[in-house]
Parts: sequence; C-alpha cells; structure tokens
Amino acid sequence: MNFHILTLFPDMVMNGLMTSITGRAVQQNKIGIEAVNIRDYTEDRHQRVDDYPYGGGAGMLMQAQPVYDACKSVLERLPEGRKRRVIYVTPQGEPFTQQKAKEFSESEELLLLCGHYEGIDERVLEEVVTDYISIGDYVLTGGELAAMVIVDAVARLVPGVLHNDISAETESFHGYLLEYPQYSRPESWHGKEVPPVLLSGNKREIETWRKKQAKERTRERRPDLYEKYCALEESKAFLMKQKLLHMDMIECINRGQAEVLYRSERELLLRERCSGVLYHAGAPENPDEWEAGQILLKEKQNGKLCLVLHGEQMVTCVEELLSLRVSLTCCQAVCTRREKLPVRGLYRQDTFTTVLGYQIRSLGEADGDAVLAEYEGNMPKAYVRECIRKGSMKGAFLDGQLCGYIGMHEEGAIGLLYVHPDHRRRKLAQALETVMINEGLERGEIPYTQISADNQAAILLQEKLGLCRAKINLYWME
Ligand code: SAM
Repeated sequence: MNFHILTLFPDMVMNGLMTSITGRAVQQNKIGIEAVNIRDYTEDRHQRVDDYPYGGGAGMLMQAQPVYDACKSVLERLPEGRKRRVIYVTPQGEPFTQQKAKEFSESEELLLLCGHYEGIDERVLEEVVTDYISIGDYVLTGGELAAMVIVDAVARLVPGVLHNDISAETESFHGYLLEYPQYSRPESWHGKEVPPVLLSGNKREIETWRKKQAKERTRERRPDLYEKYCALEESKAFLMKQKLLHMDMIECINRGQAEVLYRSERELLLRERCSGVLYHAGAPENPDEWEAGQILLKEKQNGKLCLVLHGEQMVTCVEELLSLRVSLTCCQAVCTRREKLPVRGLYRQDTFTTVLGYQIRSLGEADGDAVLAEYEGNMPKAYVRECIRKGSMKGAFLDGQLCGYIGMHEEGAIGLLYVHPDHRRRKLAQALETVMINEGLERGEIPYTQISADNQAAILLQEKLGLCRAKINLYWME
C-alpha cells in the first residue's frame, strides 16, 4: 500500500513518518510513503500557492491550480486499476475512527491532501476528493498532523507492518470495547502487584479476566461505545437460538465487523462492514408493517444492495418491496469444534505437502492469472483477484502447476473451492478446506462455509470434515 501526502511542508511529514514502526515498514517495503510538495506545482512566478478569499474574511486560501496539478501528477503515475482514494483532511470531515482506518487499509493508493491557512479553494476539492476526514473537533493550523495520524493508524493494519498482526485485532475499538489494562515486569512495583491471573499461565482464565476488564473499562470511560457493545451482545444472544443458521452473523459480530441497522425482539438487520453485505434474521410480527423493510428501501436508494435472508419467510416480501431476486440458495455448514481437525492422511503438518506430493501454500498476486484461467464460479474476476491480493486464498500445486484452490470471502465464509478435474478424488478439496478451517480455529474463529443447496459433492465434503449443517437455507438476494 502506498501513501502520497500532498502538502506544503514535506519535511514535517517525512521526518515524523520515517521514524519508528512506519519508517521501518517503508524500509522493509511493506508500505510506501512519499510527500509531494504542492508548491512545486504552482504556475505563479513568485511560487505563491495562496490568495485572498473572495468575499473577504480573515486569512488566505490555497488556490485550486497548484493543488489540482499536484494531485493530478500523482494520479497519472499510478498503475491502472489500483484501488485509490483521495482524502482531504479537514475539521469539516467525517470523524476518523478505527473502522475508517480499517476501510482505508483496503485501498492500494491513498492520497492525503493537507490544507493550510484558511483551507483550500472549494472547486478543486469538488473535483479530486473522495473522502473528507476530520481527526477531531478542534482546528489545527494545517493538515500535516492529521495526515500523519491517518497514515499511522492505517499503516499498522497493513499485513506485516506490525510484528504481530493479532495485536491489531485485540486492541481498543475492536467490537466496540476498549482494551484491557496491561502489565509488564517487575511483578511488584510501588507496592502494586500484577493481577495474579496474568501469572497463572491459564489461557482461558486470562482471556475471561481480560474480557471482563475491557467491559468494565469501556462502561466507565466510554458509555457511548458500551451501549453499542451491549446491543451487539443482545443481538448475538438472539442469533444463538439458531446458531448454525446464523453463524455468518454471529461471526460477523465476533470479528468486530457488524453494524446493527435494525433490532427488535423478533428481528435483526446487520451490515457487514467489510463487504457491505446486509444480513437479516427473523421476521416481523406483521409483514405489512415491516420497519426493517423501510431501512432496506433506504439502503437500496443509496446504491447496490446485497442482502442475505436467513430462512425463506421474507423472500417474497423482499422480492416485492425491493425488487431483488434470489441469486443463490445455500446452506450453512459450521465447524463446531474448538480443537483443530486431524490432518493425518491429508498433508504433513510441517510442510503442508499432501500424501500424493501436492504442495499447499498461500496464493500471491503472481498466481492470479492461473487461478482465473480455471475459475468457473459466480463471483466477479476482480473480486477473486482482490481475495488473492489480500492473502486470503490458498492453492495446491504439483510440480509448480496450480491444481486447486480455496479462499476466504471478505465477509468471513470459507469458499471459492475448486479442484481441477485431473486432480479430483485425491483428497485435495478435503486437504485445502482443512488448512483453511485449522487456520481459522487458530485465530479463534468459528469456521463456516455456505454451499449451494443443490451441490451434493460439496455437502458430502462438509459431512466428511465433520461440519454441522443448518436445516434451514440462506437466500442471497441481489
Ligand atoms: N477554515 C477551516 C475551517 O474552519 O474549516 C480551517 C482551516 S485549518 C486552520 C487549516 C487546515 O488544517 C485545514 O485545511 C485542514 O487541512 C487542516 N485541519 C485543521 N483541523 C483539522 C482537523 N480537526 N482534522 C483534520 N484536518 C484539520
């Protein structure tokens, strides 16, 4: 991922960002950071970039021309097809949050435009900016510090930037909870002891203690967040009544990706933030007064809608109200065990080589063409490429040739499974899915997959793997 900071003070941002973790990440080529001096682009012979605002008022305004040309010069040299965003940092923007940082970390090229003086001529903002972001309700003298805050928060979510990627997932704001208190050596300091449970070595007890502390801390310090956390917990309790059917929604909450759009005693409507997919569970008492339906209508007016219904009861209602059609009927299979699946007879635990010599490894961008040459599924090719780019796909190779693959969808379901006909009946699908399930279990997830309701081969495979299947189907509506 590359950051391009458009500024009048390049030294200020580079001096700050080239130190510590972000600096090391640049040196290790995990991210790229450049500062582009807007002044280099002015056509004014005195190198001016600002002028008086029309209509009078205090201070000067950055002019459109140099900002536009600086921005254009960056955009023009970016390779085709890269996911890009142009962020203007401004006190008038949407508040910057951990969630926004996560969203931005999905981009490949992030341009950050820093204002100065009284800001920037509105006309150029209208032409180039995709996101207006504020780092808080106060006014800074310039956008440099704000841009640095954003680069720092986003960069640490890029895989490999932190030594331990898990730490980004347990930190504050994940799933609306602040982080628990932490302690390091010595055990006793100023007469204060480290809580004994942390010295016990009992992982489960430590986890329970930390969760309790995180909850208490959030309730005391951030009641606004705590309220959101409680809403999600209550939603989870509702979903647990049919846990196999709702595991996609439960996992969405567990992963800290759920936004509650509607909640009542009988119904739940969530947005999965990463993919934007909406999940609906339950049914209203009276379908003629369907409040969640009104929310869905509004969502549809805002753009393309992808909705997953859990059970058939609301399908006709959605078809009529929203003119959506069922694009896929599938059933959900869930790995309900906590311990990893056995790999004996499938592949070697240390080398990921199968009994017949297939090598299983993560796919990289270089494998994209080989995957797409074989791909017959119903997902867009660009989506599959994106899954590869994010490192969420694995392939099985024989003599360097790709023979099969599997992936994790952006909302968390295992899928995209394919084995080339010449390599079937060699337990490759079972090995690939076992690798994915065991990795998920290692991360503390509950692995699940959604299989087309009429795909007997896939259903048999899930049975072989010991996954439990929901009796009620899911309906993807698009
Ligand atoms: N006149 C502007 C207004 O009232 O909205 C404020 C301009 S401010 C003095 C100069 C620049 O600092 C802005 O153009 C913006 O880039 C940056 N800035 C100031 N406060 C910020 C904040 N809270 N978040 C993000 N950027 C900020």
